[in-house]
Amino acid sequence: MVTNAVIGKTLTIDELFDEMGFEAIFVGSGAGLPNFMNIPGESLRGVYSANEYLTRSNLIKAYKDDPDTPIMKGGKVAVVGGGNVAMDAARTALRLGAEKVYIVYRRSMEELPARAEEVEHAQEEGIDFRLLTNPVEILGYENHDDPRDPANGSVRAIRCIKMELGEPDDSGRRRPVPVQGSEFELEVDAVIMSIGTSPNPLIKDTTEGLGVNRRGCIVVDEGGLTSRKAVYAGGDAVTGAATVISAMGAGKVAARSIDEALTSN
Ligand SMILES: Cc1cc2nc3c(=O)[nH]c(=O)nc-3n(C[C@H](O)[C@H](O)[C@H](O)COP(=O)(O)OP(=O)(O)OC[C@H]3O[C@@H](n4cnc5c(N)ncnc54)[C@H](O)[C@@H]3O)c2cc1C
Repeated sequence: MVTNAVIGKTLTIDELFDEMGFEAIFVGSGAGLPNFMNIPGESLRGVYSANEYLTRSNLIKAYKDDPDTPIMKGGKVAVVGGGNVAMDAARTALRLGAEKVYIVYRRSMEELPARAEEVEHAQEEGIDFRLLTNPVEILGYENHDDPRDPANGSVRAIRCIKMELGEPDDSGRRRPVPVQGSEFELEVDAVIMSIGTSPNPLIKDTTEGLGVNRRGCIVVDEGGLTSRKAVYAGGDAVTGAATVISAMGAGKVAARSIDEALTSN
């Protein structure tokens, strides 16, 4: 048994075969690497990925009065993105005492990927949906002595641009196109980026011959087998961020394949 090992760092897939004697390996490493927009200002204080924000508030219990890992409470919060995780982050911000919470999403309500119930609940709770709007820069306080800057280098606003919908793109949804000259500032104290996650490249980078697609997801056949002999994979590491049920299903499919492969030898 190997526990508490980061595969690709402590041990590689090849070492698990060669040194530990495993005969088959299942990779279920998820898609936990948060995506950012790569716009200026993303390293300012008060910018979080949704995963970090939700982990801090829910798992590390930053909502408590004297938390080990504090989180910004109160103020004005912008959540960038329109998925279920964005709705979760927005409603969590409200529960942490935010006076105003925006959802900033670049397409319209029709394309918003979150489940209708999640959107409805967010609206009922007073979340302000700024649709057809995309951030282009996160702005901080220029003068670090500014009394409004709670911790040198904090967020003070996001600069956004209005969008309109053009022709459908690869996803079949109408492509959002910036409206020239429509930039404006939205005053906020925190920005939560909720624009998806990707598989961490660690295992791919340390496993020669492991095929991945252009999104960095591991490529498998219908039985969960990767391009490497006796290496199987499933879940978000293969599909990109999806659901618990589909990850569990993929685990079962791969378990069956592994059982067949090992017992037929
Ligand atoms: C905020 C949030 C809310 C969600 N809500 C829902 C929901 O309501 N319903 C639903 O169905 N889905 C939900 N999901 C999605 C769901 O969590 C995932 O689809 C599911 O957990 C994927 O399972 P997985 O086993 O593929 O990966 P994960 O559950 O991500 O597990 C991967 C594991 O591998 C470990 N790992 C990663 N890299 C390595 C490495 N190199 N070496 C060793 N270990 C490694 C990670 O630490 C992690 O423990 C939500 C996701 C998020 C982020």
